[in-house]
Amino acid sequence: MTRLVVVGNGMAGARLVSEVRARDRHVTVTVFGAETWQPYNRVLLSNVVAGTMTPDQVRLLDPAWYADHSVTALPGVEVTSIDRETQAVITAGGRREPYDVLVLATGSQAVVPRVPGAAGAVAFRTLDDCRTILEAAGTARRAVVVGGGLLGIEAARGLAGRGLPVTLLHLAGHLMNRQLDAEAGLVLGETLAGLGVEIRTGVVVEEILDDGVRLTGGETVEADLVVLACGVRPVTGLARDAGLEVARGIVVDDEMRTDDPSIFAIGECAEHDGTVYGLVAPAWEQAAVVADIVTGTDKTSRYRGSRMVTRLKARSVELAAMGETHLTEDDAEVVRFSHRAAGTYHKLVIRDGRLVGAILLGATSAVGNLTQLFDRGGPLPGDRAGLLFPGLSGSAVAESPVRMPDAAKVCQCNNVTKGQIRACWESGARDVEAVAAATRATTGCGGCRDVVEGVVGWLCEQEWVSA
Ligand SMILES: Cc1cc2nc3c(=O)[nH]c(=O)nc-3n(C[C@H](O)[C@H](O)[C@H](O)COP(=O)(O)OP(=O)(O)OC[C@H]3O[C@@H](n4cnc5c(N)ncnc54)[C@H](O)[C@@H]3O)c2cc1C
Repeated sequence: MTRLVVVGNGMAGARLVSEVRARDRHVTVTVFGAETWQPYNRVLLSNVVAGTMTPDQVRLLDPAWYADHSVTALPGVEVTSIDRETQAVITAGGRREPYDVLVLATGSQAVVPRVPGAAGAVAFRTLDDCRTILEAAGTARRAVVVGGGLLGIEAARGLAGRGLPVTLLHLAGHLMNRQLDAEAGLVLGETLAGLGVEIRTGVVVEEILDDGVRLTGGETVEADLVVLACGVRPVTGLARDAGLEVARGIVVDDEMRTDDPSIFAIGECAEHDGTVYGLVAPAWEQAAVVADIVTGTDKTSRYRGSRMVTRLKARSVELAAMGETHLTEDDAEVVRFSHRAAGTYHKLVIRDGRLVGAILLGATSAVGNLTQLFDRGGPLPGDRAGLLFPGLSGSAVAESPVRMPDAAKVCQCNNVTKGQIRACWESGARDVEAVAAATRATTGCGGCRDVVEGVVGWLCEQEWVSA
C-alpha cells in the first residue's frame, strides 16, 4: 500500500487529499498542517475581515470528513525536516513519518518589510491574522493598510466597510500596479476613496510606530491598527534544506515532481516552467494532476500551466484583470473605454486577433465572456465594441447562457465549464447548491455564482418551455 505524506494542509494540500480519496481508498494518507485550524478557504478571508462571513463558513474539511475517509490529519504539527535517504519526514515534536510519496504544499508566507516596528503590525495571510485584525479593529479609531495590491485593497475595503477610517499606503505610483495600468489604478483609487478609503500612492514607510506609521520625509500617518499586505514569499525552506532544486519556488516538472522522483510540490510553494502562481485555480489543477499520478488513475496526467485571471473581492468594486494589461498601442491593438466619473475603465489588449489581456473595472456584464475568450485564446470577432458592451446591436458575443459555448469555463477556480454544469443539471441538479456539490463550481472565490445561477435558471426555463 502506497504511503502518501502531505506537508501543508492549506488550499492545495486539503484539495490534494480529497482528490486522492475521490479516486482511491487504498493509499494511506497522512497530512501535516502547521496551522491549528482545520483547513479553510484562504481566498475568503477578505470576507471574514469585511464581516460578511464567519470563520466557520470558510472551512474546507472537518474532522468528520477525515474520519470517514480514513485520512490522518495532524493540525498544529509542523514538519521540520525531510530525510530523503530513509524516506521520512520529521516533525517539530520529533515524530518520524515514513513515506513512499511526499507532497510539499507549504504555500507562501506574508512578506514583512524590514522597517523598525514592523513586529507591531499584523500581516494578512491566515485565519489567525484575521482574528488579530478583527480584535484590534474592535477598539481602533484609525487603521493603516500598507500595500495597495489585491490583498491590501480587500483588507482596506473590509475595514472601511466596518466604519473604521482607513488609509491605504502604496509604494508604487498606482494601485495594483502589477495587474493594472496607471489609468485603471487611478480610477480604482477614486472608487475606493468614495467608499471611505484614503489612498496615498508613491509613499515609502520608514517606521511603524505605536500610534501610526512614519513615511519618508518625516510625515506621520496616525493609526492604532497597522495591517501589512506587502506581498508573499513561497515557503521553500524544507525543500532547500533537503537539497531539492529551489529557484523562487520548489522547481517541478509537468507531473509536479521535484528533482527527487518521490517528492512532488504543488500550490504557491511550487515553481512550474519558471512561474510561481499566487492564485488558487492553478493549485487545485496541480492537486488533481498529482492525485491522478499517485493513485495511478491516469499516469499520463500533466499540468501545462495556467492563464491567470485576478478578481477583486471588495464590496461595491467590480474588478477583473487578466494577462498582459500593460501593453500599449505600440505593441498591440488596444480598445479602451474610460468614464472616471462613473468609476468605469475597460481595456482590451489584442494581439494577432486574440485577447491577450483585459482590465474590466466598474459594473460590466462582459467579464464572463472576456474571461472565456482570454482563457481559450481563440480568434476574436471583428466587432470590438460589442466585446466590451454585449448589449450593443451587432454584438457577436453575448453574456447570455444561451450563447455561451459548452466549452466556456464558468468557474475559474475549479475549472468547471458550462457543459459540465449542463451535464450535472441533466443528472438531476436543479439549483446552485446541487451544482456546487457535484462540480465544486462557486466554492473557490465565489465570483462565478451569478453565472452559475444564470446557466441553471436558463436550463430550468428550457425544461418548462418544452414540458
Ligand atoms: C486574503 C487573501 C485573499 C485571496 N484571494 C484570492 C482570490 O480571490 N483568488 C485566488 O485565486 N487566490 C486568492 N488568494 C491566494 C490563495 O489563497 C492562495 O493561492 C492559496 O491559498 C494557495 O494554496 P497553498 O495550499 O499553496 O498555500 P496555503 O493556502 O498558504 O497553505 C499552505 C499551508 O501549509 C502550511 N505549512 C507550511 N509549512 C509547513 C510545514 N513545514 N509543516 C506543516 N505545515 C506547513 C501552512 O501553515 C499553510 O497552512 C488569496 C489569499 C489571501 C491571503
